[in-house]
Amino acid sequence: MGRAMIETDVAIVGAGGGGAVLALMLAQQGVRSVVLERAAGPPQGLRGEILQPNGQRVLDRLGLLDKLPTQAVRSVHRFNFCRSGGERLCTVDYSDLPAPYNRAVVTLPNVAHHAILDALEKQNPGGLWYDATFTGLRVDGSRVVGLQATRHGEPVEVSSRLVVGADGAFSKVRESLGISADIYRYPESYLIAILKAPPRFDEARYLVGKREILGLFPAAGQQVYAFYMIKAGSYDAVKAQGLEALRQAWVRIDPGMEAIVSGLVDWSQTGYMPTGRVRTDRWVADGALLIGDAAHAMNPHASQGRMQAMVDAVTVADLIPGWLKHDTLSAEALRAFELARRPQVSMLQRLADEQCQFWNTGNPLLAYLRDRVFRTLDRNARLRYRVLTTTAGLRSQPPFSLLDRVIAAGFLPDPRAQVRLPDEA
Ligand SMILES: Cc1cc2nc3c(=O)[nH]c(=O)nc-3n(C[C@H](O)[C@H](O)[C@H](O)COP(=O)(O)OP(=O)(O)OC[C@H]3O[C@@H](n4cnc5c(N)ncnc54)[C@H](O)[C@@H]3O)c2cc1C
Repeated sequence: MGRAMIETDVAIVGAGGGGAVLALMLAQQGVRSVVLERAAGPPQGLRGEILQPNGQRVLDRLGLLDKLPTQAVRSVHRFNFCRSGGERLCTVDYSDLPAPYNRAVVTLPNVAHHAILDALEKQNPGGLWYDATFTGLRVDGSRVVGLQATRHGEPVEVSSRLVVGADGAFSKVRESLGISADIYRYPESYLIAILKAPPRFDEARYLVGKREILGLFPAAGQQVYAFYMIKAGSYDAVKAQGLEALRQAWVRIDPGMEAIVSGLVDWSQTGYMPTGRVRTDRWVADGALLIGDAAHAMNPHASQGRMQAMVDAVTVADLIPGWLKHDTLSAEALRAFELARRPQVSMLQRLADEQCQFWNTGNPLLAYLRDRVFRTLDRNARLRYRVLTTTAGLRSQPPFSLLDRVIAAGFLPDPRAQVRLPDEA
């Protein structure tokens, strides 16, 4: 039987954090595209989502930020970093950032993603294919000219001028392009839960101890997300120990959360979040490129994985009309995207790995230094602002110079400790 052949300008593999934004932006610009998503429909699973200011900016540009259902989003301003046991070390306040993105937006699971997919279906009816799995590339010499897939189990071919691999950390598009990836699975992952919060639970808490992390983020509907670091792959082992053991561990880390843990009554309130990092030496080829986790998955300490996929999408969407118009889709031309995005992505990957070293540690000396840095940040508005703008996705430069590191560790005073330079972000 012959394969169905579809012709388009841009074929996107994966309707996740990056692919869906790219498809919607292209549709808004009138560029023809199809998106292949192997899942049967929009994601439904439990996942915590914090929209950082750079992600809010992307949603605003898509015309969606103000349209997110108010009952499903919550603005959070203050993030308190504490030692395991409850002692506060440092408070970071998003109100310090320039308006209007001077807050973190915590959404109920998949809310922003569903809004993007809904808008896409309206803007480009028939352009989003569920149950469609990428199986290989179509090539002409060394140039990618489309892809092969199965859709509802039937083979299909797509002829396109550009293929975008937005298919996540274990990208098959990347593999088909022969782009080798250094994939690192961190030894720690997270158990996540969404629970009822007590009244006036308005500020996030992030508790760090010796090989212990518990993050508590206020969510809409008087709820709270809990992120609890566990050994990678140990979700079943944690479950085997029972809910009471988990409740006790959490209350030991944060004695203030007794009221919250009493609402943890069933494992269905929890989920597992694996963590990994992807590094590749190139993101582009003739007629194809990679965005998001396929190119550069990062540790969640950066709080930027999804945001960076979204920013990739916007950057590519802005470049595509010019590439199509001038028919310049060589790897050399597409490198403009990689050059624009690598600095921030690489910085965040390095920073998140450094945070893993200090935040996840069981080593008393490293934990001591970590807590010292948090205490310095609490007093030092300049360095605190640097950290905030980095997490907010507003910086491409590393937050600290070598001298700043010495100051942050508390070994040198900082004459400019109270100088905040909003413009430097
Ligand atoms: C539980 C959890 C919670 C997270 N919370 C946050 C958070 O709060 N903030 C944050 O910034 N980041 C978070 N992340 C990370 C974030 O989800 C990713 O960094 C982000 O989704 C990357 O977007 P992406 O488009 O590159 O990949 P993905 O979102 O992974 O999308 C890839 C898509 O490609 C599809 N696909 C894969 N292979 C194929 C194929 N062969 N054919 C067709 N389709 C295919 C997949 O089904 C998927 O839909 C979280 C991750 C997890 C797992």
